[in-house]
Amino acid sequence: MPRYIPDDVLDQIRLRADIIDVVQSYVPTLKKAGLTWKACCPFHHEKTPSFTVNPDRQIFKCFGCGKGGDVFKFVMELENLDFTSAAEHLAHKYGIIIPETPARRGGARRESFDGEIEYGTRERLCTLHEKLAAFYRRFLLEHPDGPVAAYFRTRGIPNDVADKFCIGASPDSWDAAIQFAHKEGFVDSELRDSGIVSSKDENQSHIYDRFRNRLMFPIWNESGRIVGFSARSVEADPQGWKYVNTPDSPIFHKGRLLYALNFARTAIPKAGAVVLCEGQLDAIAMHRAGVTHAVAPQGTAFTADQATILKRYTSTAVLATDNDNAGREAVFKDAAILLPLGFNVKVVRYPGAKDADETLSKFGADALAGAVESATDFFEFALDNAMSRVDPSTPAGRAAAANDVIYWMVQLENEVTREFYYDWLAKQLNVPLSSIEKVAERRLVEGARHSAVNVRRDAGAMPPPKPRNTALENAVFELLVLILDEEKYAREAAEELPADSLGDSVPGRAAEALLQGAMNGEWDSAPSSILTSLEMEGADVSKLVEAMDLAAAHRAEREANRDPSSMPADNENEQAQTPAPPSCPAADPYSCEKYFRNTYNSCLQRILTEFYKGERAAKIEQARSVQPDDPAYAALVKEIAGISKLLLDLPKKYKVVI
Ligand SMILES: [Zn+2]
Repeated sequence: MPRYIPDDVLDQIRLRADIIDVVQSYVPTLKKAGLTWKACCPFHHEKTPSFTVNPDRQIFKCFGCGKGGDVFKFVMELENLDFTSAAEHLAHKYGIIIPETPARRGGARRESFDGEIEYGTRERLCTLHEKLAAFYRRFLLEHPDGPVAAYFRTRGIPNDVADKFCIGASPDSWDAAIQFAHKEGFVDSELRDSGIVSSKDENQSHIYDRFRNRLMFPIWNESGRIVGFSARSVEADPQGWKYVNTPDSPIFHKGRLLYALNFARTAIPKAGAVVLCEGQLDAIAMHRAGVTHAVAPQGTAFTADQATILKRYTSTAVLATDNDNAGREAVFKDAAILLPLGFNVKVVRYPGAKDADETLSKFGADALAGAVESATDFFEFALDNAMSRVDPSTPAGRAAAANDVIYWMVQLENEVTREFYYDWLAKQLNVPLSSIEKVAERRLVEGARHSAVNVRRDAGAMPPPKPRNTALENAVFELLVLILDEEKYAREAAEELPADSLGDSVPGRAAEALLQGAMNGEWDSAPSSILTSLEMEGADVSKLVEAMDLAAAHRAEREANRDPSSMPADNENEQAQTPAPPSCPAADPYSCEKYFRNTYNSCLQRILTEFYKGERAAKIEQARSVQPDDPAYAALVKEIAGISKLLLDLPKKYKVVI
């Protein structure tokens, strides 16, 4: 795979983008715990933290779902980016300039390889959106007499707010945006990729502006780049869609975007909750009222992906849906996603108004903020809703209502919380707790727990398994842990292992590169650059991360066991002052060294056995195709005998002493 970012730039990014800093910006709950940092995993749902970040190795690893890697991998996973985009994203964030290369200049998609979005395209598409957003904003300001401006005024949004949310107007034209983008140096393929144009013919030769004569809301991604638009019709009774949105594009995935999250991301942990609005205008109304922890799902329905994103910030969701039947339905749909993920759910009610926007315009900011502040607990809401449909004076009516509410309670992931609510419900309905529990028990047994628990993102098809040499892989993995920990063994192995003996598994390739590094005096920096280059290829690096983690743990244990009086004052001179310090579970230097030597010998013996067996099989295969009277045949037989002898000698050469 082509590499578009020079290695030295990658090194710079790795140095500047400290993994703790980067992870914390997405996972504010990340806390120091001894030598590593811990949090609940942002990639899978869990109650107790098994996600760790190691600042020394600059790697993260989750012991729950197995995801792991370096800072690039973290951004790739979280932002759903390919390697180059993730690197670019970090470069942007940390102010590192990636030099222009011929492949980048012009920004047009290069057709050199399939489906891969070329480095720079993503950046170009974001820039295109940002320029267009400014263009639409200017157009709104400069055309106060136009139909969009007239409609916009009816919304009563003050100018500073419109500035912040960059609300604009698209001209009533088929090509105003195209003309503008061309003038800014963008080419048609970029306009097509970005989704800002439409086309009627199949090969998209004739394109026209997708957004015409509409009120424009730019959509930011989590890290504050504009990646799409939501465009509202200004006609009272629009013939087409009321809203036209950017279609999914390389930078726009509507199921994963939350409107205003870029503005709300610091306010959410502070407020200890996120307010989930129905649409952009409600979210804007909330922010106007000082409720700056409000967001809105993009497009129509709230998704489990979006809930998983929010879970990184908070465990309390305040649903601010419209005060009508559709709004009530939305509350239950959202709750079905949120409750199994461990969210504490509340519901905002708007007395005397239909939604947030109307509450703000009718009663003012304090009233809206107050409505959020006094949001009802979801189960109270569910009970009210159920009671409104039955006759609460009869036992049958109350039982039906209880049944309804219990349906939701069993979706709570936490047993203690469930018990709490059963008790609450029993008191509310004045029925024995045991009867509530009996219904709940049945519900649970029926498997009524909602399938929304399952929010694994990576459920995609796995590549077909290929035959693996597990004996070799296990030995290589053990060796990798050892040579990550001890340079001396890396150098030794580099001398003794033939090329290609480590196989092409990820640990094998990592070990190979590490041996190379040890020979070139780059043993220290080799692991991080190997990790990065494997990630760049899209390889599964979990085994490498696991090995790095084991080696780091081993090292930490050794540090802890070492006699403090012999500890060098300056950590950086450690290597020079203490040659080959013992580092194994035992504190005793002799048994430590023995443990290492044994590990090394065992690994080499197994790796070389596999290697020679392979060599021998190849020679035997070769000999089969040669006539016995051919002189080459005798030579091959001799070689085969030689390999057999080597194989026999291995246990002696690499003795494991017990
Ligand atoms: Zn995980």
